[in-house]
Amino acid sequence: MKNLWSETTAAKLSGIDLLVYRSRLIGKEANLVLWGGGNTSMKLTETDHLGRKVRVLRVKGSGSDLKFSQAKDFSPLRLEELLAVEQREVMSDEEMVDYLNACLLNPKSPRPSIETLMHAFIPYDHVDHSHADAILALTNTKNNQKIFAQVFAQDMVWVPYIKPGFPLAKAVAQAVRKNSRARGAILEKHGIFTWGKTARESYETMIEMVTRAEQFVSATPALKPFGNTHTTECCQQNYLKIAPILRGLVSPQKRFILTLADTPPILEFANSEIGPEISRRGPVTPDHLLRTKCSALFVQNDLTRDLQNYQDHYTAYFNKHANPETKLQDSFPRVVLIPEVGLISIGKNLTAAKIVRDIYQHTISVYRDAMTIDDYTSLTEAEIFEMEYWPLELFKLTLAPPDPEMAGRIALITGAGSGIGRATAFRLAQEGAHLVIGDVDEASVSQVGQEIQKKFGPDVCIAIRMDVTSPESVAQAFAQAVLHFGGLDLLVSNAGIAVSHPVDQISLEEWEQSFAVNTRGHFLCAKEALAIFKQQGIGGNIVFVATKNVMAPGKDFAAYSASKAAEAQLAKVLAIENGPLGIRVNIVNPDAVFGDSKLWSETVRRERAQAHGIPPEQLEDFYRKRNLLHAQVTPMDVAETILFLASDRSAKTTGCTITVDGGVKEAFPR
Ligand code: ZN
Repeated sequence: MKNLWSETTAAKLSGIDLLVYRSRLIGKEANLVLWGGGNTSMKLTETDHLGRKVRVLRVKGSGSDLKFSQAKDFSPLRLEELLAVEQREVMSDEEMVDYLNACLLNPKSPRPSIETLMHAFIPYDHVDHSHADAILALTNTKNNQKIFAQVFAQDMVWVPYIKPGFPLAKAVAQAVRKNSRARGAILEKHGIFTWGKTARESYETMIEMVTRAEQFVSATPALKPFGNTHTTECCQQNYLKIAPILRGLVSPQKRFILTLADTPPILEFANSEIGPEISRRGPVTPDHLLRTKCSALFVQNDLTRDLQNYQDHYTAYFNKHANPETKLQDSFPRVVLIPEVGLISIGKNLTAAKIVRDIYQHTISVYRDAMTIDDYTSLTEAEIFEMEYWPLELFKLTLAPPDPEMAGRIALITGAGSGIGRATAFRLAQEGAHLVIGDVDEASVSQVGQEIQKKFGPDVCIAIRMDVTSPESVAQAFAQAVLHFGGLDLLVSNAGIAVSHPVDQISLEEWEQSFAVNTRGHFLCAKEALAIFKQQGIGGNIVFVATKNVMAPGKDFAAYSASKAAEAQLAKVLAIENGPLGIRVNIVNPDAVFGDSKLWSETVRRERAQAHGIPPEQLEDFYRKRNLLHAQVTPMDVAETILFLASDRSAKTTGCTITVDGGVKEAFPR
């Protein structure tokens, strides 16, 4: 492992800044810590609220990631008070958490790490803790103590597995006291602690010890524990077929997001004979359990049957170990391995699914290394349950804010480069939906995509060029929804065009182009959406953006009104045909929505003004005064109605038309 320490940089830093620097170096290395794992600390003198000098332990608080450490992420605790409990015989987890909170110098600091007392009891100013892959490959083996002695001799102390908390902190402290020459501790089936008089010493010991472990593995002749299983070229194609089915099976209530990883090491494991058995042996460190659950689902024969078996096993495991007051989390896996497909990870959003994916990639690597040097072992089933259903961790989940209305939902929006489509994309993203946004104008839709990613996070949205008149382009867009998010819940079929001439002046080409976008486009999109909805088997939702002209056509607007009327009829027939499958199809009829709409080109504005016998600059005002509320209708007004129809708030509504036109009595639905 590469030593990233730069004395030039470090020499300019002191106090907490040095801790931040060291923490970021550790956080940068995915083979040391992943996604919020690991923690670091420093003991120093600070000033309290009365101006007194006190010895303080600065330790990483929960909820932050070492990679992005900032000084405020390290909670200050009064060291003297922490050390006062070391002689106690017992201290429950709840008691410990309350005690740690009481020791905070600043009550507004983040909740201190559950491993705080370990940092406090280790009698060195600088302490680092990681769940390094190479260390876990050594500690998670049948002959781990023998291997430990070979690799670390007297340099490190060995601490047998104990759940994190007060007893583990005491055990580490005692082991350190027994061996004053030790430069760190190896925690069985958990990870490594290193320490030092200086920040550099602690960091460099971490790198040195992990490197020793890596070298021990690489010096062992490569056994290829997963065999010479071939990798396949068609993983994505296989994934496209299976992902919506899997998503439907795991999302009967709460919707999940899926993501695929199909790198050669993953496929080697997914295709191996030994994989299914190893994947049931348990996690590489307790820290991963809340993300990955106790085991992965390895699909060997039939997805539905294998998943049912997994759930039955999980429920039996829960019932065997649970107290009467423990509540079952869902019984669905978070990691699914399928030969010729790869690793499918499951999360409440794409970010969560990616975290699971990253953790399991490292899990596979630890499995491989442990099997190379010896035989992989994990915690006992009881130890696993104790961590997976640790009340402290479960309590943390209850502190999270409630999920937004469209959390876990996947939507595809056409014509999203401007106007109603763009506003709908923002509105749905705000409510937690994952989006595929398409538009024939690639530049404008990628601009919208970037804005949404900037505002709501990089994982919520992908933007693509999409021509709704082309079957290939439409199929491609829906495939992207499955590939990126695992399926689809909502189609907002919005792309449309307008031409305005008297009938005898409409060219055949204009007529047919109107029908290609305003009718065929909706037909092609609905067909692709239905195919995914049916594979998922958990209902579905389509919102068609039509127009007031469906009910009340206007002069010189035949190609537009006729093609949009066909769209509306299509929507109603879709509602009739697919109601029994729980698929809802509704229509929004907006009128005169200008905003940033591309529908209202200069030409269309001029032509519509002419049809109404007014100058073009009075057009928006003309439409406003024409409606009962004298309201100017904005893209966001329409987006709000689309959100209502897309959400469960309208769960009992299908085949319905809602107007968003300020009230045009000629266009009342009837
Ligand atoms: Zn740990």
